[in-house]
Amino acid sequence: MSGRLYVIGTGPGNPDQMTPEATAAVEASAEFFGYGPYLDRLRLRSDQMRIASDNREEIDRAKAALERAAAGAAVCVVSGGDPGVFAMAAAVCEAIDNGPRVWRDIDLVIVPGITAMLAVAARLGAPLGHDFCAMSLSDNLKPWDLIERRLTLAAQAGFVMAFYNPISKARPWQLGRAFDILRTLLPGETPVIFGRAAGRPDERLTVVPLSQADASAADMATCVIIGSQETKTISRQNRVDLVYTPRFAATETK
Ligand code: SAH
Repeated sequence: MSGRLYVIGTGPGNPDQMTPEATAAVEASAEFFGYGPYLDRLRLRSDQMRIASDNREEIDRAKAALERAAAGAAVCVVSGGDPGVFAMAAAVCEAIDNGPRVWRDIDLVIVPGITAMLAVAARLGAPLGHDFCAMSLSDNLKPWDLIERRLTLAAQAGFVMAFYNPISKARPWQLGRAFDILRTLLPGETPVIFGRAAGRPDERLTVVPLSQADASAADMATCVIIGSQETKTISRQNRVDLVYTPRFAATETK
């Protein structure tokens, strides 16, 4: 007997930014696996069961969910944002890759969601209007050398960059180091966006030039977007600056 495994994203926090498809998956599921604060975003019925776990236990959570689905349960694995962006969908695929063959027969439904960088970008204009890349600044799952190499090449290639997981108590210096590297590669006036808790009541959006970017402006709920040489800032009264990256690249990136 094989059940179904949904992997959903709640969006960045505003309930209106959770897709109808994700909401339907929640309604169709009986057991919910995820980090407690993400499960808290769902309004579950009394017959639906929560199995909350710590944010660092992704692979064990994926295996536990697959075991329940293999036993016939309707299971939902819950991420914030989009489940495929630095989140549970990859952990579920990895568990299937290395797990018992029967897990491959589970009806796996991955439901896309609105990822943090899109919610942040929409609040300020269109900073991702031209070519961009996304990187996690966490060196928990990859060496810091590789992060430095990637952000150097991305800056040289003229990409706008969105940084996820920019800073935490266990990783206090990495974002400052990233700014120091970028200041050697990009003009000081390059816009840097700190998009904190986009779509939630405690949302905070700030835009500063790279020359003044300070890592202490970010926390774990912040997505940092670094403009390219083309990215423009338009100041407005009593509103956060409008930031956009033009659709065309006028000049060769130096
Ligand atoms: N799957 C998630 C990302 C998980 S990694 C997604 O698609 O959005 C966690 C990181 O996402 C945080 O450290 C932060 O960088 C970013 N993030 C999540 N929610 C956010 C929000 N509401 N506003 C800004 N950044 C957010």
